[in-house]
Amino acid sequence: MELIRQLHDTFKPLAKVILFCDGKILYDHAAKTYTFDIKNLDSLDAYSPYLCIGHDKELSEDFYVINVEATANVFGIFMDPNSVEFTDIRTVLSFVAADDFHLLSRATILNKWKSANAYCSSCGEKAVFNPVEGAPDCKCSAPPAYPVISPCIITLIHDKNRLLLGRSKFFPANMFSTLAGFIEAGENAEEALHREVMEEVNVKVSNIQYFGSQSWPFPSQLMLGYFCKYESGDIILNDEELEEARWFDVDKLPTIPPDTSISGQLIRSYISDHLKP
Ligand SMILES: [Zn+2]
Repeated sequence: MELIRQLHDTFKPLAKVILFCDGKILYDHAAKTYTFDIKNLDSLDAYSPYLCIGHDKELSEDFYVINVEATANVFGIFMDPNSVEFTDIRTVLSFVAADDFHLLSRATILNKWKSANAYCSSCGEKAVFNPVEGAPDCKCSAPPAYPVISPCIITLIHDKNRLLLGRSKFFPANMFSTLAGFIEAGENAEEALHREVMEEVNVKVSNIQYFGSQSWPFPSQLMLGYFCKYESGDIILNDEELEEARWFDVDKLPTIPPDTSISGQLIRSYISDHLKP
């Protein structure tokens, strides 16, 4: 997938459209997809120019993101209203394939970015899309409003056969996950990891090992995943972020995040790779 950010006055012939409304995404439960052929949708003329976010060279498909009004009727006459509905984005992210996860995250971030940058943040004038920069721009001296990505650390704290996991009050019942937090201005990722772990659960860690990264669109993070080893300290919840944090034996884990999320991948990877004899 070639990543692009352009406004098009009309759809390209093989347009695939990703539709958002009130913070939800249109999803077809029967076809298991969140991208819709333009020919199957009702007219979207009122939303031109359209934001194009990617191009699939093999299939010659262009992917568009549109935020529609709650009152709009976007369903074409052949769409089945029993299987197609606006659905919670986190729910869809929890079961899509890895390639779909990337595109869905990008679409979610850029949909919010387009809405938030209709006007210049410096002088308040209506922004004009700059096709060279691929971003809303203004005649004043403010730079183009490029999408902003916020780096975060996410880490699995391990101590041989046990894992330290926490849960926020927003999680489903009995779900626990790895710890995460935003990187502060001036910090590197390792410093942020030590600070966040101390702030959230009051323990010291060592032996930080990079695992991988993942885009996360709530609102626009880049999660940098690490393993780290427990060193010392008893669990004390030092800030308001977690409702509960506990050690779990790897044989008696609670509900953990799905494999589509980097938190789920960290936990499963540790169990499968790090416990081999
Ligand atoms: Zn301006």
